[in-house]
Amino acid sequence: MYIPPYRTLFESGELARRAEQLVAMLTSCNICPLDCQVNRLAGEISRCYSARLPIVSSYCPHFGEEPALVGTHGVGNIFFGNCNLKCSYCQNFEISQRWKEERKNEVTIQRLAEMMIELQEVHHCHAIGFVSPTHFVPQMVEGILEACRMGLRLPIIYNTNCYDSVEALHLLDGIVDIYLPDLKYSEDEMGYRYSGVKEYAQHSRAALQEMYRQMGRELVMGEDGLVKRGLIIRHLILPNDLAGTRETFKFIASELSPIVTLSVMSQYYPTNKVSDDNAEKFESLLLLNRRIREREYDKVLDMLDEFGIENGWAQDFESQDYYRPDLADRVAPFKR
Ligand code: SF4
Repeated sequence: MYIPPYRTLFESGELARRAEQLVAMLTSCNICPLDCQVNRLAGEISRCYSARLPIVSSYCPHFGEEPALVGTHGVGNIFFGNCNLKCSYCQNFEISQRWKEERKNEVTIQRLAEMMIELQEVHHCHAIGFVSPTHFVPQMVEGILEACRMGLRLPIIYNTNCYDSVEALHLLDGIVDIYLPDLKYSEDEMGYRYSGVKEYAQHSRAALQEMYRQMGRELVMGEDGLVKRGLIIRHLILPNDLAGTRETFKFIASELSPIVTLSVMSQYYPTNKVSDDNAEKFESLLLLNRRIREREYDKVLDMLDEFGIENGWAQDFESQDYYRPDLADRVAPFKR
């Protein structure tokens, strides 16, 4: 039976030390590469509109992740509110960009821990999945610490936009069991234009290398056939190749390993600022104002062969017609 390494860190007192170190970073916040240097412990807020307490928009058993995570009882997802990115096409914009509204969903660390235990004991989920955790890494670890005292024993999934700081990730070594980063762009310009952050490519690649250092290239599977530990890289295909897929695959194959697990997503649909009314006002947004075409999708699948990427899943092309966001039952493995 898989015992998450964070249990050992808890027993030794190291988990409490890590939580303290991470919380200290909030006094001049550099939790993510935006490096805002505001004192969130004193209630100051900056780009992510988040202070001392975690914001939880919802939590539930979720069946929309990759099949090797979902199993029969789902991933116990905890959706954090607000975000450190401002993606113009965000498919979760109702919880990631309603900045002031979301502050009403602040919860205590004790409550965050109780949610984890409920997902484990009542819903029998296979893992706890933190969605958009980057700006709440210290609070997430405090919550895990508290939940350990209550008997938490599920693997932890870190489901991130990959604009993470290496320093924060370093302190998550042994705490996170499964990294699930969405590698969005291979060009900084696209990160700035569509997500409002500088040097996305540089920071996301450094973050990914740290995740890979911690996890290696192989997934650890449990007796139940589900992933217990490892790195699964997501990549959302964008219209007009704005994601720079070729360069992303090249980076993965050459700087990490072609054996690493990749999840190719075709579910893109125009929403938020790139939906019709808004997109017409800004030329750059018009490029995102359509779904992907079948030939764009096929080209990406061909690139998997070109770079010898061997393991993972690809969503059906048709996913874009119905996906809102539920993934598990319409993906196919491309293991060769
Ligand atoms: S976590 Fe928030 S406050 Fe801290 S550096 Fe990032 S965006 Fe700024």
